[in-house]
Amino acid sequence: KSDAFIQSLKEELAKNELSEKVNLVSTGCFGLCAQGPIVIIYPEGVFYHQVKPKDAKKIVEQHLMKGELVEKLLYHDHETQEIINKLMDTPFYHKQKRVALRNCGRIDPEKIEEYIAFDGYQALSEVINNCSREDVLEILKASGIRGRGGAGFPTFMKWSFAKESPSDQKYVICNADEGDPGAFMDRSVLEGDPHAVIEAMAIAGYTIGATQGYVYVRAEYPIAVKRLRIAMEQAQKVGLLGENILGSDFSFHLDLRLGSGAFVCGEETALLESIEGHRGEPRPRPPFPAVKGLFGKPTIVNNVETYANIPQIILKGPDWFANIGTEKSKGTKVFALGGKIQNTGLVEIPMGTTLREVVEEIGGGIPDGKEFKAAQTGGPSGGCIPIEHYDIPIDYDNLLEIGSMMGSGGLIVMDEDNCMVDIAKFFLEFTVEESCGKCVPCRIGTKRLLEILEKITLGKATMEDLDKMEALCFHVKENSLCGLGQTAPNPILSTYHYFKEEYIAHVVEKR
Ligand code: SF4
Repeated sequence: KSDAFIQSLKEELAKNELSEKVNLVSTGCFGLCAQGPIVIIYPEGVFYHQVKPKDAKKIVEQHLMKGELVEKLLYHDHETQEIINKLMDTPFYHKQKRVALRNCGRIDPEKIEEYIAFDGYQALSEVINNCSREDVLEILKASGIRGRGGAGFPTFMKWSFAKESPSDQKYVICNADEGDPGAFMDRSVLEGDPHAVIEAMAIAGYTIGATQGYVYVRAEYPIAVKRLRIAMEQAQKVGLLGENILGSDFSFHLDLRLGSGAFVCGEETALLESIEGHRGEPRPRPPFPAVKGLFGKPTIVNNVETYANIPQIILKGPDWFANIGTEKSKGTKVFALGGKIQNTGLVEIPMGTTLREVVEEIGGGIPDGKEFKAAQTGGPSGGCIPIEHYDIPIDYDNLLEIGSMMGSGGLIVMDEDNCMVDIAKFFLEFTVEESCGKCVPCRIGTKRLLEILEKITLGKATMEDLDKMEALCFHVKENSLCGLGQTAPNPILSTYHYFKEEYIAHVVEKR
């Protein structure tokens, strides 16, 4: 849709001899997907939403040439119906804080000079010129940043283990194999701000003593791949990647590896196998990758969002970051907000924001006046959050406590019409399909679980089947080799815990 509009805008600008006078910039995602495509006119900051190719003529002739707003295309707040001219003034952004997404929608991701103009590569320069490797670890420790890929492991600890592991070669890896259904956080960062990830990976290389990095990115993200390639070439050209970065004795090389769509390759040891050219199957741990990872060498694997935070932490200081969020979960978290919600899109909230604030204030509520029923975080590894926890501050520990998890950031909202057994079945179908088959509890166990769920939804299950299902969930969780199997039963367990009556309503004896 955006491409068609851009093409039409180019034609209109050319027709009116404005091509040289108007700077047309294609940015990454603004986050407000429900209102896209969006075009912002600077310097006034007015934005038009849901633009179509035919709107380009009006925008050029009326706004650019006569200076008059095209009222019909301006964004309208649902409640007040007042015309709001500035994108960041809309309710969608009021409770958000953009750290990882700071440049998405703001810069042209294909121009390194735009990234540099917004403090890009300053953190790398600061680290190389003024920090020891220990200093960087201290900064990360004081900031409290934890990995954004799902488990929430403290980043400084992972980097310390790799730094302390002696080796002639070490590696830095970016896990951009985002596979959760409905999740597109990493994709948006890579498409909107690829240099932030490259800069952070170079900082990681400096800190742990690695000279080689890999971005493992899904081949299904062609724009992200293209922009990463462009960004890497540009960084290389101006001495920010490669040999003797910024004239120092630190060298860091970066390559891309494309994933082929296997969900399990998002598991870090399977990802390492895949980069090594093997079938993407998880390895037993320990040893952990920070000690023995890619090609048997110390390796850190962090996800896109974790890296996107690092340059800002270095530049603004650990206290700035630690002051955002809750006691044990610092900073912000990006969520892909989807499902039964007005404002589907990409949101970045300070840790500790409640689910109610996300759904009602940022998300604009549930469509058609329906009631909120639950939200699923963490995709197929996570669990549902019911209305009784609507006001729980979202952070790593609170979500675990109520049987869900942060995961990488999928947040799917469900309303009164959703059947929770169907939700559990949807996610389990996904994990059965994506199980690599290496270990029995996951390969066979998830399949048996799915069979029981099918029986339940067909109205053929008994209470005994429900008991069997619950027991099998714990067995699969405790005995599977990797995170995929260990978390696969979560959607069943959490829906069964909070919505047991819906399972029982399907059971034969109760009919
Ligand atoms: Fe493969 Fe599942 Fe076992 Fe992980 S838990 S190794 S995905 S079979």
